[in-house]
Amino acid sequence: MSSIIITIDGPAGSGKSTLAKLLASRLGFDFLDTGAMYRAVAWASLQANLMPQDTQSMGMIAAQLPLRMQDKHVFINDTDVTLDIRHPDVAQMASIVASVPAVREALVTQQRTVAQGRRMVTEGRDQGSVVFPDAVCKFFLTASPVVRASRRYSELTAAGREVDFETLLAQQQERDERDQNRACSPLVKADGALEIDTSDLTPDEVLAHMEQTIRSVVRL
Ligand code: C5P
Repeated sequence: MSSIIITIDGPAGSGKSTLAKLLASRLGFDFLDTGAMYRAVAWASLQANLMPQDTQSMGMIAAQLPLRMQDKHVFINDTDVTLDIRHPDVAQMASIVASVPAVREALVTQQRTVAQGRRMVTEGRDQGSVVFPDAVCKFFLTASPVVRASRRYSELTAAGREVDFETLLAQQQERDERDQNRACSPLVKADGALEIDTSDLTPDEVLAHMEQTIRSVVRL
């Protein structure tokens, strides 16, 4: 069966994960969270006590990582790291490992392999621009920095984490800058992507807009 790929890219907190899950469930598609893959490499790099400059070891970890994504859980070997990879320290390290070309090469290969023959909504930073340039529909979600940090703050506090809003906002800005300015596959709006500012919209409103757009270009 030929694959049908829908990509959603955008910065942290723009609503990608929420919308990708909602959309996949609405359309009966699979869902791929590529940020979780970079976070898993970051988690393993932290476990190995790697320094940010040890890019060669990061590349080796990415190429060999026994990563499994199953039923909304992320496993490395048999360890369930689903919650651990959401820690802010892992997020910071993820944007460091994500600037290493060998890490990206390994994960992009895995993403394309996973997508073969499937109907999939995939979300990240480079899905429409680099990984799946021929995707049937591409979206680029944005929101103001304060709205994005507030969403993360609510998520983390709801999960029982103690976080300081100003720290979160500063970390988000640092991560945005790294993601937008790296040499290899920086965060950009892909050619042909529809940009949606989600700042003042509910997830259901964004979902309706996306679904309408998709159904206008592809018969499902
Ligand atoms: O989306 P999420 O916050 O989980 O992503 C974590 C980090 O992984 C991002 O800050 C970004 O540096 C990196 N990433 C990436 N390319 C992707 C997905 C995530 O560079 N496709």
